[in-house]
Amino acid sequence: MDFRLLSELPDNLAGKFILLRADLNVPVQKGDVTDYTRIDRLKPSINFLTSRNARVIVLSHFGRPKGQPNPEYSLSFLAPVLQERWSVSVAFSKDCCGELAKEGKSSMNDGDVLLLENTRFHKGETENNPDFSKKLSQLGDYFVNDAFSAAHRAHASTVGVTQFLPAYAGCLMEAELEALNKALENPVHPVTAVVGGAKISTKLELLETLITKVDNLILGGGMANTFLKAQGHEIGKSLCENDMLETAKSILEKCESQNCKLYLPVDVVAADGFEQNSPHDVYESNKIPQNRMVLDAGQKSLGIYKGVLDGSKTLVWNGPLGAFEVEPFDSGTNDLASYAGKLTNENGLISVAGGGDTVSALEKSGSASQFSYISTAGGAFLEWLEGKTLPGVQALKR
Ligand code: AMP
Repeated sequence: MDFRLLSELPDNLAGKFILLRADLNVPVQKGDVTDYTRIDRLKPSINFLTSRNARVIVLSHFGRPKGQPNPEYSLSFLAPVLQERWSVSVAFSKDCCGELAKEGKSSMNDGDVLLLENTRFHKGETENNPDFSKKLSQLGDYFVNDAFSAAHRAHASTVGVTQFLPAYAGCLMEAELEALNKALENPVHPVTAVVGGAKISTKLELLETLITKVDNLILGGGMANTFLKAQGHEIGKSLCENDMLETAKSILEKCESQNCKLYLPVDVVAADGFEQNSPHDVYESNKIPQNRMVLDAGQKSLGIYKGVLDGSKTLVWNGPLGAFEVEPFDSGTNDLASYAGKLTNENGLISVAGGGDTVSALEKSGSASQFSYISTAGGAFLEWLEGKTLPGVQALKR
């Protein structure tokens, strides 16, 4: 990798301040964190640094406070949570720069962690303002970026600070980059991509890129309906983007010319409505009745998809195969996810998934832990899959 890694830092960091960019933009309900994944995945970097006696100053954004202090978006509630999850002493500073941050810094001992207030309380953060970046950088001797999920934004705390401090990739950043690299940059072929979700329009760039990189493309979810319609099938009341029919046709043609084998459902589960246990039946994809909507893939399709996975060495997955929030229309996603998990364990399939609803869909299926890697990043994961350069990653390059 052409990044500086934590192992390249001096062995003893006593008295040294590490400015660590984390992504603590965690899901919260009524003041309680509802998913600790992002926090727990930062632990390897925290352990690495504190065990070498470093003083770790943590920077993060939280929500969208639009450049002004706003108690609703304060990170203060997280200090005790981090202390418990990371098993280190974590203090809190009411500002991420200036006198308050300097005061917090001066009370630190070796091996301590200081959490700074939301970086987005200052306009300079999202503007990537050089003066603000410089102020942040004055808090540390080294900068470590462990926030892959924020790397698609060129902000002061992800990009600007690297102008002023030697920058390193943290353990989570390293793991994300390694997994993504294995999945698409230098993958073992055949590579299969599963792309599901609601709409083509939000995944157009993704599809265009994947076509050029993968051997098989399995399309599911609401977006598959538009493709079925573009192929001349009736799709009843199903979700469909009529303004994307031509685009769908052109994607079908590109798949042919790029030798990317495209798989659409040959049978579907179609229901009366988008509700739990709505009356439903399985139909061939060319016999969808007018009064029903497609909400999942059928068994025959799943059998074909499993055969494709059997012959694959690498799998990239984004988006559910059906309306996974509404039972029983989560079955297709659950079934294929558990099959992918099994192949990962038993056949050495490299399986990487991420982006938006994908993580919750796979968590719900109970198979997420069997995948080789589940990315904690939403937008950054998608932009990376789309082949874009992520400014936060670029800024870390030697
Ligand atoms: P995305 O955020 O684009 O990955 O889309 C995820 C959403 O797509 C979930 O909320 C699913 O309920 C929805 N979805 C998947 N399949 C269908 C379908 N056949 N009809 C309607 N919505 C669907």
